[in-house]
Amino acid sequence: MSEEQSIPCPHCGFEFLIDPRDMLAGGLCTCPTCKKRVGLKDGAEGMASNTMARLRGLQEAVGKQ
Ligand SMILES: [Zn+2]
Repeated sequence: MSEEQSIPCPHCGFEFLIDPRDMLAGGLCTCPTCKKRVGLKDGAEGMASNTMARLRGLQEAVGKQ
């Protein structure tokens, strides 16, 4: 299973690759298009619900490893 995952940027909608384990550890990824930083904390406020669902799926996948 690839560890690379992509999510749509909550700011501009561009889909880019993230490191799910880095995200789940509280890290931030920088959107390559709008340069805004995206983290799980942002998700609570601004991410689309489908993005949050995907991140929850990642949490489950990482937790099982
Ligand atoms: Zn963006």
